[in-house]
Amino acid sequence: MGKIEELEKLKREMEEDKKLPLFGAANLVFGEGDAGAEAMFIGEAPGFNEDRLSRPFVGQAGKLLDKLLEKINWPRESVYITNIVKRRPPENRNPLPEEIEAYKPYLKKQIQIMNPKIIATLGRFAMNYFLPDFKISQSHGKVVILRGKIIYPLYHPAAALRATAILKELEADFKKLPALLKNYDNVKIKK
Ligand code: URA
Repeated sequence: MGKIEELEKLKREMEEDKKLPLFGAANLVFGEGDAGAEAMFIGEAPGFNEDRLSRPFVGQAGKLLDKLLEKINWPRESVYITNIVKRRPPENRNPLPEEIEAYKPYLKKQIQIMNPKIIATLGRFAMNYFLPDFKISQSHGKVVILRGKIIYPLYHPAAALRATAILKELEADFKKLPALLKNYDNVKIKK
């Protein structure tokens, strides 16, 4: 089975898993993009528009994400985009620890199937999923190697929409992505 089929199978399993929190309360937003992408972007949880369309990052934050990707010549379709929690928490509240935990086996499998070189986390929840003790203000734009992958913490685009200073940092961190991917083997060995 190829990656596309494996991801489809995983998606069907998630759709049928009635034990998952938020099941029945919101639509599944599994993730989308190139199944063979070397870069995977992981956000927090779907919002209103994402729930409506069952697609990740399609609201205002998504528009900014698209723009940031365009600027580095990585079309949205060339990467893979998903979230740690794959259904919208009510009123866009923060995901609960038990929700993150419940969705974890699926995200783990999704990453295993894709096997990307870089995982760029968007916001503190996604960062803390991989790096529990890290602070986003100190760690954004820093390269961390975890089980042979580059974990690259980034500010959440929604935060960048609220503060120009954060937008500047996010733009600067994004600019480093192509070189990071190009030098993946060197970066990996150095650490
Ligand atoms: N914010 C997220 O973290 N994920 C989305 O898919 C949309 C907004």
